Amino acid sequence: MTVTLGYAEPLDDDFGKEHLPSKIGGKPRWLDPTCPLSVDKVLCDECASPMVMLMQLYAPEDEPAEAFHRMLYVFICRNGSCHKASARRCMRVVRSQLPEDNSIYTAQEGEAGSSCSDDEDDVSWALAEQVKPAPVCAVCGLSGGKACSKCHTRTYCSRAHQVADWDAGHRTQCGNNALPKASKSAAHTRKLQCMLYPELVIVSEEEEGASQLDIGNDDYDDDDDGSDDDGEDNEDIKPEDMALVPVTGEKVEDSEVDVDRAFLLFQRRIQKNPDQVIRYTRSSDSSEPLFVSDMGKPEAQADVPDCEVCGTAREFEFQIMPQMLNYLSIDSADPASVDWGTLLVYTCPKSCNGASGASTYAPEVVCRQNFSSQGIGEKFVRALHGDDSGITRQIESLRV
Ligand SMILES: [Zn+2]
Ligand SMILES: [Zn+2]
Ligand SMILES: [Zn+2]
Ligand SMILES: [Zn+2]
Repeated sequence: MTVTLGYAEPLDDDFGKEHLPSKIGGKPRWLDPTCPLSVDKVLCDECASPMVMLMQLYAPEDEPAEAFHRMLYVFICRNGSCHKASARRCMRVVRSQLPEDNSIYTAQEGEAGSSCSDDEDDVSWALAEQVKPAPVCAVCGLSGGKACSKCHTRTYCSRAHQVADWDAGHRTQCGNNALPKASKSAAHTRKLQCMLYPELVIVSEEEEGASQLDIGNDDYDDDDDGSDDDGEDNEDIKPEDMALVPVTGEKVEDSEVDVDRAFLLFQRRIQKNPDQVIRYTRSSDSSEPLFVSDMGKPEAQADVPDCEVCGTAREFEFQIMPQMLNYLSIDSADPASVDWGTLLVYTCPKSCNGASGASTYAPEVVCRQNFSSQGIGEKFVRALHGDDSGITRQIESLRV
C-alpha cells in the first residue's frame, strides 16, 4: 500500500500565484472561482455559525475525465464545544472538479519553478482571461452574497461575518478613502486572519519503508499456529513503542486488555515521519486508514453512507493526522478546544459529477476517530514535537 504523506510548510513567494494548491487554513482557493461555495453548505449544525476551511487538497484523477482537476475542501466549526457535542455536525467535506477541457484554466507549458504543475509534464495552470471570479466573503472566502450596505464594495457570506468585519476594522474604514492604503489594512487584516486557521502549504512525499512497516492491522488476530500469542506479536510491539501508552506501570504482557493495538501500530508507523499532517492512500486497492484506536472505527452505512448521487459505496481517501492540530494556533490548554485523534475522509470512488453537472460541490464524508483515552492525543503530539519545533515557532511569529 503506497501512502503519500503531507507535511505543513510556511508559504513561499510563489504561493500567491498558485491556483490549485493543497493547503491548510486561510481562505479557500476555489477550483472554479466563478462559483464559490455558498455558506449554507457549511453552517455548523450545533451553533449555526459558518464553518471555516481547515484545509484543501488538490487530488486530480485520471478517471473519470470530469475529475481531471479535483479539489477536496474540509470545513470545520472553530467552536471547540461544538466538536465536543458532535463532530459529525460541525465538519464537512465537499468535492469540486473540472474536466481538462474547461473554460476556467489554460495550460502554461514548462514554466520553471512553478509549483502548481503536473509533475509529469510540468504544465502549470493559469486562469483564463475571461474568468471573472465571483465576489467572496471578506472574512472567510465563501460566496459573498451580501454587501456592506454603506459602501456596497465589501461582500460577505453571512450577517455574522459582516458584523465580525465591521468590528475588526471596517467600521472606521467603510467609505473612508482618505486613509492611506497601508494603514487602512494592516491591523484589520491581521484581525481577519485570526478568524481563520493559519495558512500553510501542504507538500507531499511518499512514505518511506512502508513495505516493512506494512504488517497489516490484522496480524495480531492470526491464531492459526495454535500457540499462545506471545512470540511474534511481542517482537512487533517493542517496549519503546509503549512509552506513551498509559498502562499505569503494568507490564505489557500483563495488561493485554488495556493495550490498544491500533494505537501502538499507529504510534510506531508515524514515528518514522512524526511531522506528517496528512496520509493519502486513494490510489491503492482497498486502502485502509491508519486508525488511532481499536475503538470508534467508522462503519459503512451508519457512519459512511453510499454516494448520494451514484449510489456507490464511499471509500477511504485520506486522513488528517493529530499533528495538524499543532499548526492551527489552538489553545490546547483550553479543555473546550478543537481536538481529534484523526479525521478520516471518505469519497465517491467514481468521482461522480453532482446531479447538476460541473461547478457544483459534491458532499463527501468526514469521520472523527478519537484516541481511546482522553488526553493521549495531546500528550502524544507534544511528545513528538517537543517544545522546540522550528515550524511551530515560525507559525507563532506569523500570528503576532
Ligand atoms: Zn459550531
Ligand atoms: Zn464569511
Ligand atoms: Zn462598508
Ligand atoms: Zn458518486
